Amino acid sequence: MHNFLPFAYFQNQFIPFDDAKISIATHALHYGTAAFGGLRGIPNPENPKQILLFRLDRHCQRLSQSAKFLHYQLPADKIEGILIDFVKKNKPTVPIYIRPLVYSSGLGIAPRLHNIDKDFLVYGLEMGEYLASDGINCRISSWYRQEDRSFPLRGKITAAYITSALAKTEAVESGFDEAILMNSQGKVCEATGMNIFIVRNGQLITPGFEQDILEGITRHSIITIAQELNIPVKERAIDKTELFIADEVFLCGTAAKITPVKRIENYTLPESNPITDQLKEKLTAITLNQDPNYKDWVYPIDID
Ligand code: PMP
Repeated sequence: MHNFLPFAYFQNQFIPFDDAKISIATHALHYGTAAFGGLRGIPNPENPKQILLFRLDRHCQRLSQSAKFLHYQLPADKIEGILIDFVKKNKPTVPIYIRPLVYSSGLGIAPRLHNIDKDFLVYGLEMGEYLASDGINCRISSWYRQEDRSFPLRGKITAAYITSALAKTEAVESGFDEAILMNSQGKVCEATGMNIFIVRNGQLITPGFEQDILEGITRHSIITIAQELNIPVKERAIDKTELFIADEVFLCGTAAKITPVKRIENYTLPESNPITDQLKEKLTAITLNQDPNYKDWVYPIDID
């Protein structure tokens, strides 16, 4: 069971989470005409009266960009202000996950984006680890990631997540923890809610934007950190067979952070993950605001 935070932002105000209810005829529920974000908030280990939000600006920009696909103008700075107020209102004392959502709130039958009301809501829940941090087993999904020519993949549109849901359930019901999806070209794309990196001969490799991936914020952070650590990074297409012979493979995302992969299908990967471990250590320190070079990535919110 989830422990939801006491207050939600709903219809332009903060109200108790249990009172935030929508109609069964809500357009977004029927047509997936919604888009979401996802951020972690962690209590500052040095100051429990402060919650640290990682790359708040980027998360708000991406949600604002997603909203455009729904024909809804929601400026990033407006989202930012509401998310800060959301944290101040809820005063969490444990790590949390914040879920902002823009959606077609009108009641209507035809699938469309024009002439239908939109709204913005936020709720949150307590959240620790999303995947086992010591490593997971992955299946290659029989489901393929959508193509950008038929789906706005640069937005986190809710409808797209049917593919993630199918892939995740297929993986778990066949004894794996997570699924790796290929794109329509048969190249490695991403997992159900995470981007993917592999390491081969000391080089960090990840699919580029032309591979139909989500523009992940953790992915961007890792590429930046790797450059500082002098780890060579290459954004390029990855073949499925490279996964099986990689020296290291990891998944990354706001929820999953950096999660090493131990096995893919019937291929066991090497036990030691020196580059993954190095990146993970650095990213953890940055998210805890302990790295002076990355203070501008961390937004400390005073909750008292
Ligand atoms: N891919 C997909 C499909 C996702 O849902 C997510 C989670 N938002 C990611 C990748 C990772 O993105 P981020 O690092 O911005 O959380």
